[in-house]
Formats: sequence, C-alpha cells, structure tokens
Amino acid sequence: MRLVTYRKAAGRPRIGALHGDAVLDLGALAADLAGPSGGRGRFPASMLELIAGGAAALARAREAAEHGARLLAQHGAAGLAERKLGLPAAKARLEAPLPRPARNIFCLGRNYREHAAERGAEAPAHPVFFTKVPESVLAPGGRIVRHPATRELDYEVELAVVIGVAGRDIPRQAALGHVFGYTVVNDVTARDLQKRHGQWFKGKTLDTFCPMGPVLVTADEIPDPQQLAITLRVNGETRQASHTSKMIFPVAECIAVLSEGLTLLPGDVIATGTPEGVGAALGTFLQPGDRIEAEIERIGVLENHVVAP
Ligand code: MN
Repeated sequence: MRLVTYRKAAGRPRIGALHGDAVLDLGALAADLAGPSGGRGRFPASMLELIAGGAAALARAREAAEHGARLLAQHGAAGLAERKLGLPAAKARLEAPLPRPARNIFCLGRNYREHAAERGAEAPAHPVFFTKVPESVLAPGGRIVRHPATRELDYEVELAVVIGVAGRDIPRQAALGHVFGYTVVNDVTARDLQKRHGQWFKGKTLDTFCPMGPVLVTADEIPDPQQLAITLRVNGETRQASHTSKMIFPVAECIAVLSEGLTLLPGDVIATGTPEGVGAALGTFLQPGDRIEAEIERIGVLENHVVAP
C-alpha cells in the first residue's frame, strides 16, 4: 500500500491509501465494511496508531483499501467522493505520512562513500548517528524556511525507514522484519551551524528542516531497500543521482547497530544518509524561491520550496 496522511479542505488529518489518481479514505472504508453495528471498533485515527496496531491494524487497512479499489473501479474517484469514501488525489492536501513522529528522527551521517569523500571525510568504520526533533517534519509541498541563523542552507535526499515492530538487539538477518515501510526524507542542513557547533544536531534540526513523504510505502512493496535509484533536483537540475546499493551500512545493518542496547519503537524513523552531490560540495546553497524535488524509485517525488523567513 501507498499510505498517506491528508486533509480534506480544513478538516482533521486522515489516513488514506493512494490508488491510481484517488486517495481512499481508509477509516471511512473500514466503517463502510463494518456496517451499522460498527464491527471491530474504531479504525486507527493516525498513521502512528495504525503502525502501533501491528499486523491486525495493517490487515484491516488492507481490507479497507481493497474495498475502496473495488468501489473506485465501479464508480470512479468522483463516485467515491460522493459517498465520502475517498477523493481525487488532486483534492487531497497531503501532510507528511508521519506528521509528528513520537520521538526524534534517527539519522545516519556519511553513509555513502562518495558523499563522505566530497565532505573531506573517510568512510566511517561504524555508522554515525545524530537526530532531528519531530517538530522539524514538513509536509510535501511545504515551505523550507531559510532562517536568519544560516547563510548555508543545503539539501540531502535520503531513504527513510519506518519501524513497525519494536525490538532491541535486533539481529541483522531479522532486521527487515521490523520495518513497517519506507518514505523519502530531505535532511535539510544549515552547513554553517553544522560546522560551528561541533555536534551536527544544531544545524540539522531547525524548524521545517525535515520534509517527509509524499507516501509511506509498506515494506511488502519494497522487498529489497538496497535496489532503489535515489535522486534530487533543484529547479529541475539534477544534483544528486545515486543508488541505495551504494550505502556503506545497508538498512538491515543500520537497524541492527542502532538497536544495540536501545529499544526501537513502532513509528521510529531512521533516515539512512545521503549520496554525493550536496550543495556544500558543489559550492552553491539554497536560496528563497528554489524548488527541490527529492525522488526515490518505487516511493515517489517529495517536492518543497525554499522561502525567506
Ligand atoms: Mn543526512
């Protein structure tokens, strides 16, 4: 499934599945399937709740999506909207799939050899971790603010892993079994602050610095996360073009090492590092008005604009 968090006009956030050119309203479809008796109780109200609901909640979401796909084939997106069971994708206002993760987003630094080299660093012997605060998450289409605190605003396209099953000391060979799904993150960075403050945290986590989306693709649709093209464009010009097979520490290894003595929880997000081609290496930084498209094969394009404060 290609899961989204979205709003209809000014309504509350809802969970949907993107199917062709329609967004299926999973909560409404589950209620429609259950009938007037209400069936198995309330459908998860947020993506975090859906993920925390485990296999049972995911199975229920799948049934709702299949029901929606059947109705869509019969009645089209307009017919679905009429019954309040979905809407044309163009009318859905997408939020980040996880608009506010429950805790900090875990990130890897220097996880592609060529990126480490372009930053003048050796490939690390062990994964390098830092975090971004959950409030830094930004919706697809949202505006990245070039805060007055920085003159060196930069982009980093990354494959983000969303944990579905809690675990500590997860063995490498079992790690992908803990993944709920995958999305795209732009690890927006203030290079001057990253340098000035020693630890990377400060320069990595200003407000709006974690665009995420547009969809959360469930793990069954991406059996091998190391087989995805990963690219980023600024105003249509390709700046980053690589492949997830080039990660120094593949997804399974990132999960195994991060979970050593640290319990990973459902809804945790791990951004797995960026390939070469960042602005700092090319000698150019983001300016207000710039349009950024971060794209990963099988997931989609995450587009955001840069604005002045
Ligand atoms: Mn990064």
